Amino acid sequence: MSSGQLIVITGPSGVGKGTLVRRLLEHYPNLHLSVSATTRPPRRNETEGQDYYFVTQKLFQQMIQENKLLEWAEFAGNCYGTPRFAVEEKLKQNISVLLEIEIEGAKQIKQTFPNAFRIFILPPSFTELEHRLRQRETESETAILRRLERAKEEIALKEEFDRQIINDDLETALAELIKEIDSILKKE
Ligand code: ADP
Ligand code: 5GP
Repeated sequence: MSSGQLIVITGPSGVGKGTLVRRLLEHYPNLHLSVSATTRPPRRNETEGQDYYFVTQKLFQQMIQENKLLEWAEFAGNCYGTPRFAVEEKLKQNISVLLEIEIEGAKQIKQTFPNAFRIFILPPSFTELEHRLRQRETESETAILRRLERAKEEIALKEEFDRQIINDDLETALAELIKEIDSILKKE
C-alpha cells in the first residue's frame, strides 16, 4: 500500500526553520504540518492548536506513558513531542507530513520511520545564529544563552542527517529545500 512521505526539518533554534516551513507550506498546500505538544508557555503571537498544543507537564507525561507521542525531547528546559495519531493517519491517507523538530527528536524518528527524509538547516555562522535569536525577541537572555549552548552540540551532529542546507539568503535556502522535497515526493 502506498503511503505519504515523512519529511523532517531540523536544526538549531533561531536558524530559520519556522520561517522556511511557513514558506514551504505555501509552496506545497497538500503537505500536512504536524502540530507538536509542548510544555513551553505560548509566545505573544502563538495560537493553541495552530502553533502548538500547549500542555501541562502532567499531561505531557501522560502522553508519553500512553504512547501517544511518536518522539519527544527536552529542549532548553521544556518538553516537546509529536502527537502520533495525526501523523499516522495522514501517512495512511497517502498525504506527506512535515515535522519541524529539534535534533534529538529527529534522531528518534529514524528508528520508527527509517524512510523518513531528514534535512538539517545550518546558519551561515554562529554569530548570525545569535543575531537571529536575539532580534526575534521571543526569549529571555537566559533562554537565548541556553539555546546557543545547545546549538553548538546540535551543529556538531549535522552529518547524521540526509541533507544539510545553509540558510544564509532565505530565498536561496528555500529554493534548495524545494528542490530536495520535489525529488523526495517524486519517489512516492
Ligand atoms: P527557528 O524556527 O529555527 O527557531 P525562526 O524561523 O523563528 O527560527 O527564525 C529566527 C529569526 O531569524 C526570525 O526573526 C526570522 O525572521 C529570521 N530569519 C530566518 N531566516 C532568515 C534568513 N535567511 N536571513 C535573515 N533572517 C532570517
Ligand atoms: P520553540 O520553543 O522555539 O518553539 O522550539 C524549540 C525547539 O523545539 C525547536 O528546535 C523546535 O524545532 C523544536 N520542536 C518543536 N516541536 C517539537 C517536537 O514535537 N519534537 C521535538 N523533538 N522538537 C520539537
